[in-house]
Amino acid sequence: MVICVIHTGGTIGMIATESGYAPQNGVVETELKRMRASGDIRTDFWVVTAAPLIDSANATPADWDWIMSQIVAHHDVCDGFVVTHGTDTLAFTAAALSFGLQGLSKPVVLTGAMLALTEDGSDGCRNLKDAFAAVETAPPGVFVQFAGGLLHGARVRKSHSTDFDAFKASPTDRPPHRQSPRLSAQYYGEVSAIIAAVAPGMNADLVSLAAERAQGIVLRCYGSGTVPEGLGLRSAMQRAQAQGVPVLAVSQCAEGGISLGTYAAGSMLEDTGAIDGRDMTVEAAYAKLLHALAVTDDPQARRAILQENLCGEWAT
Ligand code: ASP
Repeated sequence: MVICVIHTGGTIGMIATESGYAPQNGVVETELKRMRASGDIRTDFWVVTAAPLIDSANATPADWDWIMSQIVAHHDVCDGFVVTHGTDTLAFTAAALSFGLQGLSKPVVLTGAMLALTEDGSDGCRNLKDAFAAVETAPPGVFVQFAGGLLHGARVRKSHSTDFDAFKASPTDRPPHRQSPRLSAQYYGEVSAIIAAVAPGMNADLVSLAAERAQGIVLRCYGSGTVPEGLGLRSAMQRAQAQGVPVLAVSQCAEGGISLGTYAAGSMLEDTGAIDGRDMTVEAAYAKLLHALAVTDDPQARRAILQENLCGEWAT
């Protein structure tokens, strides 16, 4: 067995600098070599390193595309992938890979650390060891290995900003895998969208502006799918509909999701063509919206993609 490690950056490979923690070349590679020599890692591996390594706060769809291109390039010559990544946008990347890659026949396991490998008591070593072990046993698909758990790539969210146990994923029966007879990557390219949240007394002008300027909108609604009716949001939503800008509605609640049509105060969403994001995470909704924008220019085809459960991103 041989594993391809794709190192993108993040706390796991950082050192303390005068301006705070920053990525440093060689940190992850050195630790992996030490772990292989000590037997913590039992499989051979090689490392592909992003240039430059980044804090994942700086990740863009171009970084998702780079990771996918590495997976496509090395898929036939390894038994699986460990992707080391910063935790701040790890859930976005995991979702983006889940939607973008079809026909994987190997597992892709993302991991990182809350405390750098260069610090005493780092969780990085454990997460690396577990991620390597997960590649040996996991089915094909995109997963996140963190703090002892193997999580669904399209359901995962960062739920804690300081604990080692920083990620959660609500359960689903569908594996994080898009079936296809052969491997392909749908690259994200130049697409862009905006995430907007409703709030009491909100100024809906921003949503209106998004309808004018953005290619798509993820709208974070209240609870099971309600929005303020009298604050100009309806006209912003109508503008989005008229412009062919898809609006994907999700909940501000971390669990349970929305169900459009439950409350009269949410009916405006249906009236204006918003798409029910069910219990998708906001990270998955954003990545899925960009995926739909990248796949086709046709508004109806985009809508069809957004209404389909592609790889278990919602539970039912
Ligand atoms: N800011 C870091 C990053 O996301 C945090 C981490 O890796 O835990 O790259």
